[in-house]
Amino acid sequence: MRYYSTRSRSNPVSFAVAALGGLAPDGGLFIPEEIPSYPGRVKNSLGTMSFFDIAFETIRPYVHPELPDAVLEDLVHSAYPFTAPLVSVGDRLVLELFHGPTAAFKDFGARFMARAFSYLRRGEDKPLHILVATSGDTGGAVADGFYGVEGISVTVLYPKGRVTPLQEKQIAGLGGNIGSLAVEGSFDDCQALVKAAFADEGLRKRAALSSANSINVARLIPQAIYYSVAAGKAFAGKTDSDGEATPRGGPASPRVPGQSNQRSAIAIPNASHEVKAGSPITFCVPSGNFGNLTAGLYALKMGAPIRGFIAATNINKAVPDYLASGEYHARVSRVTISNAMDVGAPSNFERMTAHWTLEELRGMIRGVHVSDEDTRKTIAAVHDKYAYFLDPHGAVGWRAVDILSAVAGPLAILATAHPAKFAETVEPLAGSVPAPASIKNALSRTAQAQTIPAELSALADTL
Ligand SMILES: *Cc1c(COP(=O)(O)O)cnc(C)c1O
Repeated sequence: MRYYSTRSRSNPVSFAVAALGGLAPDGGLFIPEEIPSYPGRVKNSLGTMSFFDIAFETIRPYVHPELPDAVLEDLVHSAYPFTAPLVSVGDRLVLELFHGPTAAFKDFGARFMARAFSYLRRGEDKPLHILVATSGDTGGAVADGFYGVEGISVTVLYPKGRVTPLQEKQIAGLGGNIGSLAVEGSFDDCQALVKAAFADEGLRKRAALSSANSINVARLIPQAIYYSVAAGKAFAGKTDSDGEATPRGGPASPRVPGQSNQRSAIAIPNASHEVKAGSPITFCVPSGNFGNLTAGLYALKMGAPIRGFIAATNINKAVPDYLASGEYHARVSRVTISNAMDVGAPSNFERMTAHWTLEELRGMIRGVHVSDEDTRKTIAAVHDKYAYFLDPHGAVGWRAVDILSAVAGPLAILATAHPAKFAETVEPLAGSVPAPASIKNALSRTAQAQTIPAELSALADTL
């Protein structure tokens, strides 16, 4: 597969160049020259194939022949010791994307990317330096994905004081080849700093720079996997039973001193509602930078049985506004309780509009935004009613579905993070959340970040 910049069709590059380069030299984002289709044998058996086989078939056309089949097979097996259960909550489905090591969906992209980079850089002696800006979850996923990977070092930039204590430990608690900078500014400032570093020729010469944001194709493409897996399952009339980290429990019980985060003794049965076979699914995607949603569009175009998408945002609603009015205005980001979606200028917007026209996008996506107040109410209400804990991002998705008129066929809300990652917000509303092992591990670390002002010279000094 060859890749173009969103800003020019003239200089196609290989997967390796697109992945290791991050941004195109003209400042655009790389996009594949075409979105491949699943072969018929794959399309017809998505409902019965294993997660690994679907992962392999989804990624292969985008990386062939640079990642040989045998390498890709090893890679998906080592990247994904966890899957994405599609569970019932009331009469809706929830696609749980938080069963990985940092308890958020970004593990799917970051773990593949780290392994792909490591393979593509084999035999190089100049170490690769990865710069990544995060609004919270990317940093942890990238840090974890690259931790200990030879020949690669990472610097994570995050907005000081705007990530949760747990996210900070996930980002800045590993050490080793993972460095971290607490930037005095917003996520948009962090992202602008990374862009400025890439644009600085002197810096680029000094250090072999690469990015790991959702702009990177090596992170974007593997996120298509779980859409196809879930769509295939639902089309076959199937759902999953709960996974180990599935956050059920309740009704809300007060914390008993000396007894930490245990599931309530009252078990709520997973009253799985019937999913009717043969109907394409709608996904509701809590969105910030729109990498996740763009990957969903790729899965749809590849031929997975998907009816369409709901793009759910918080008050940072540049894309829902664009879908409604046809006009796009990037804005300064505003702080919300779903902080991984506090993005005023979503970088993947450029990719979406390079692939599709406004009318085409309107045919595939409906946009909705949700207030913090409604997000809080939703966390409380869903727990009260179904004894299921949503995190603030998933709750934005749940509420967006309430706001929209009825959706035909099966509907799945993407639960992008485990609620225990946002215990500060969730516990006052719904009670004690059972924490998965991944979060307990991270909490035992100490964050060690350096604080810098939002200036390129300050970033350059640290590299
Ligand atoms: C990153 C993130 C999002 C937003 O995903 P995008 O791909 O940036 O749209 C939503 N929820 C959580 C928990 C995230 O970490």
